[in-house]
Amino acid sequence: MHQRLTVFLLLLAACGPNPKAPVQVMAFVPGIDGQFTTTQVELKTVSNLLALKGSVVEFVGGNRVVIDDSDPLAAISGGLQNQSDEQRYEILVKDKGADVRGNFVDKSGVFWPADFHTWSMVTSFYNFERSYEYWLGVYSGVDPKELQKIKVMYWADFKVNSTAGQTDNAIYFSPTKSFIITPFKNDQLIPFGMNIGIIGHEMSHRVFNEKALSGKGVHPALGWNAAPFNLLKSLDEGLADYHGFGVTCTEAAGCRPNFLAASISDTTTVTNRTMSRPDLCMNDSLRNAFMTFTPGQWVSAPELYKVGTLWAGALYQAGEKTGKRGVLQRALLDAYDDQTMAKPGIKQLIDTNLNTSTLFTMEAVANSIVAHITDPELKKVTCNELTTRLQLKCGSFPCDEMPACPATSARQTFCPVLGMNP
Ligand SMILES: [Zn+2]
Repeated sequence: MHQRLTVFLLLLAACGPNPKAPVQVMAFVPGIDGQFTTTQVELKTVSNLLALKGSVVEFVGGNRVVIDDSDPLAAISGGLQNQSDEQRYEILVKDKGADVRGNFVDKSGVFWPADFHTWSMVTSFYNFERSYEYWLGVYSGVDPKELQKIKVMYWADFKVNSTAGQTDNAIYFSPTKSFIITPFKNDQLIPFGMNIGIIGHEMSHRVFNEKALSGKGVHPALGWNAAPFNLLKSLDEGLADYHGFGVTCTEAAGCRPNFLAASISDTTTVTNRTMSRPDLCMNDSLRNAFMTFTPGQWVSAPELYKVGTLWAGALYQAGEKTGKRGVLQRALLDAYDDQTMAKPGIKQLIDTNLNTSTLFTMEAVANSIVAHITDPELKKVTCNELTTRLQLKCGSFPCDEMPACPATSARQTFCPVLGMNP
């Protein structure tokens, strides 16, 4: 019976209308009170509603993506880092998948999803579209071509050196330049793809990869060790969280600096990632882990996100205390890539220090960010927040480590002062 019903729905969908943007659909998104509810939204970029394809993202279903370090194909050309995007896609995407097909019921011109996957896909599609709009604003209307026509591998079988596929996750997977939404299994809350903060976070990884990591699927800086590697990863996560938060601010439910809470039941994880906490401060054990953990340890440790949240928290406080969130969002994007000698961007800090990675420091990154803020008040407060929460090597201003910070900046008293940086 169930089988026949599915076939019937597929046929109905296949024969039904396939409207182009703008399309009114129902999605599962938070209302003004923050509670998820079925809501009518408009999709502005969809060109094929049934297959969930449009100018921002194109859904594909049934993909199998396998990272296997013992796969001889991964060693071609000396490793994935030396392969072209096309080669890596061929090698890692073991099953290329096929078009997805949503099932809808047309109620007076509003398309209602008719099954769980369609609710899930339409809501994710809407979240990608809204994240794109956020970035369009941050790019100040300059068409962000790198954020268009990106594959979303929906319900993908994604294995990373394991026989078990990942579940309950959403990923920007730079080696194949695509988003991956894994099956929803153990977490009982809102699936990751349906959480706009999480999709905003993933879209921000794409921006960071394109801008600061030169669009490289596997950047050579990922061969760094200890603190420089750990900084690169944590910075990417912290910035993704900060922009993911920025995306939530564009919705009816308003800004949600703890957007993970809707999807993750583990309160420790959620608390660790909540950027609005006033007590976010570097401490001795976290700094020690940051300085000494190997890349393998760092990417599987909660400390990766703890340091990321210190960055997000400092930026959050700076943007909210000054009321200049939007100005800060744009300054961050400016800092991702800037060839100007006087204020090199994060990309330039990475590329010029590929062989001198110890010069890629928290102070250098903080200085690059601050150098791209022109508003004097925001500049000062961002210096205060970063130097205090991350315990940067700048006890008093002006200082050599962060010359972009004005003399009016000062380390604040809301974090206990740690001993000398090792
Ligand atoms: Zn992330």
